[in-house]
Amino acid sequence: MTSQHHALQTSLKQVAELRGIGLHSGRFIEVRLLPAPAGHGIVFYRTDIHGLDPLIPALIDNISDARLCTRIQNADGVSMSTIEHFMAAFHGLGLDNVLIEVDGPEMPILDGSAIQIVTLLQQAGIVALDKVKPVLVVTKPIEVKLENDVVLQLLPSETLDLDIQIDFADPAIGRQHYHYTHQHGCFENELADARTFCMLKDVETMRHSGLARGGSLDNAVVVDNGSILNQGGLRSESEFVKHKVLDCLGDLYLLGMSLRARVCANKPGHAASAALLKALMASPSSFYIENENNLPQQSANMHLPEAAVALASS
Ligand SMILES: [Zn+2]
Repeated sequence: MTSQHHALQTSLKQVAELRGIGLHSGRFIEVRLLPAPAGHGIVFYRTDIHGLDPLIPALIDNISDARLCTRIQNADGVSMSTIEHFMAAFHGLGLDNVLIEVDGPEMPILDGSAIQIVTLLQQAGIVALDKVKPVLVVTKPIEVKLENDVVLQLLPSETLDLDIQIDFADPAIGRQHYHYTHQHGCFENELADARTFCMLKDVETMRHSGLARGGSLDNAVVVDNGSILNQGGLRSESEFVKHKVLDCLGDLYLLGMSLRARVCANKPGHAASAALLKALMASPSSFYIENENNLPQQSANMHLPEAAVALASS
């Protein structure tokens, strides 16, 4: 177990690019993922913003309220939405440092899962850097309870473990449970292709409020009264609950470092994840950080994109 205590930070070997439709805007978004040095962290860079700070580090302090996705926002009010499946892929593959150039306010939804992102990152290649990973180690239980029986807990554990339960009225979903142990290769094999899902009636409501303009059967599993509307049905029996595990992994990566804890969740969601992270930060006696001096330091590491690339390749 000592090897995981001293795992090296990573970044991309080369630039990776993809484009896809934004779920809410319905327009094409161009994304470039750039190598970044150790201690840089995960930072989004809005190339369409001028005169305001275009950099948005993916960290707890930048979480902003959003009902349907995970959204972050910097001090200038510049935001990035729907980051969770990218964050899940970074967390899942152990990618610590990357600069993400985006030409709009949301990430592309792709097929509603993280599989395309995982394939892209693997093709670009992931390389070890010269500093070890900081790890947040939970030593005492933390719990948050919200409305509708939503409960999330963090418990001490030797590994990162997620125990997730969901309960939906629609009989096509119903009650499901999944236990995931985070180990090398598990994210790609178990979780990456699990798609997001929604009820047909919610799609209609969102359309009326001008949301989900890019939403279709190409980027979500759509459920209506006990049936799945997508041709070909589900990709795996537990696809719904697996997607919730994926979302949770993505949200937890807003810690800005690896996590060693058991996460137990009943009916989790993005707001609940944010509440859990904030409860954790408010209770410093419940955790310690290994290799704390290697944490991303916001002010010291706000490189311009060119500088980040130059540092990584030097
Ligand atoms: Zn999701």
